[in-house]
Amino acid sequence: MTDLARDFRRQLSEHCSIHTSEVVLEQRSADGTRKWLFDVGKNNSVETVFIPEDDRGTLCISSQAGCTVACPFCSTGYQGFNRNLSAAEIIGQLWHARRALMSDPASSRIDGEASSGKAQPHRVVSNVVMMGMGEPLLNYDQLLIALRLMLDDNAYGLSRRRVTVSTSGVVPMMDRLAQDCPVALAVSLHAPNDELRDKLVPLNRKHPLRELLDACNRYLEHAPRDFITFEYIMLDGINDSDLHARQLLDIAAQVKCKFNLIPFNPFPQSGLKRSSNQRIRDFSQRLIEGGVITTVRKTRGDDIDAACGQLAGDIRDRTRIEQRLPERGTIILKQEA
Ligand code: SAH
Ligand code: SF4
Repeated sequence: MTDLARDFRRQLSEHCSIHTSEVVLEQRSADGTRKWLFDVGKNNSVETVFIPEDDRGTLCISSQAGCTVACPFCSTGYQGFNRNLSAAEIIGQLWHARRALMSDPASSRIDGEASSGKAQPHRVVSNVVMMGMGEPLLNYDQLLIALRLMLDDNAYGLSRRRVTVSTSGVVPMMDRLAQDCPVALAVSLHAPNDELRDKLVPLNRKHPLRELLDACNRYLEHAPRDFITFEYIMLDGINDSDLHARQLLDIAAQVKCKFNLIPFNPFPQSGLKRSSNQRIRDFSQRLIEGGVITTVRKTRGDDIDAACGQLAGDIRDRTRIEQRLPERGTIILKQEA
């Protein structure tokens, strides 16, 4: 940066450094999904997942090492809370993923570019979802800096509609986000009544459904899309009955929304099971018949555990991960974990 004063450059080199967190592990799934595990110090790691689709490339970014909300179906929750990521650590995940994808032409599947073998760098990551590890709205100040960089034309220039924050329902911060930086919003609903949601999403005890639904409606006054995406994890025998579907339709009558049903990605400590495919189909059908747009999330990157918090949970036990991973995906072990 020779256009800066020599003295200022000296100060910068003394006080600042430009780097991302170190990648300790990189995995590729047979379906093209890629996952990076970043070392964020003190034996903590966070993960970033890239999911290529025909018409877009979505990057799933983490906001915290661990999470205080402690949902019983989430392996991030089982890790406890370690710390908030800085804005640099959050945006650094996008920086790293784009560079890695740009240097690998096979990653560029957008607009049929793969066939020409020529990467189109600015389109590789077309969407960002804050659905990695952690509760983004409990790390609000750092999240906001990172979101603004994602949207800034001098940085990543993504449209508000293509950046999604997912929250378990931190009501006061939903209101702040609506004012400060209204991007697309996904709310992890997971239960249609307070009794069950108190158990599945413990934050519900602080901000129960009535409060949450009102906050969703306030958010919609500012949102770039005219609906909230409700995420709903499908847990066998817990939240997947026809009665639950009917209760969800009552909720849908109060908030303009779409449902995204997420087949539970099991892990041993949870003791929970994924609903059967038939049950998921029936449940989704009930919602669709009730007039609500409902999609079922495709399980991507299954062979590399590309679900929230899954890999970072495994990495702590190196013996097990080394035994398991060679059969589970192509793995590049960059450095001792
Ligand atoms: N804390 C935020 C964002 C991170 S979690 C939130 O809860 O919304 C992103 C999504 O992954 C949430 O909808 C969460 O419920 C889901 N998730 C967590 N553990 C999962 C698992 N084991 N299988 C499938 N989805 C899971
Ligand atoms: Fe935290 Fe979200 Fe996992 Fe719940 S689902 S423990 S809020 S990261």
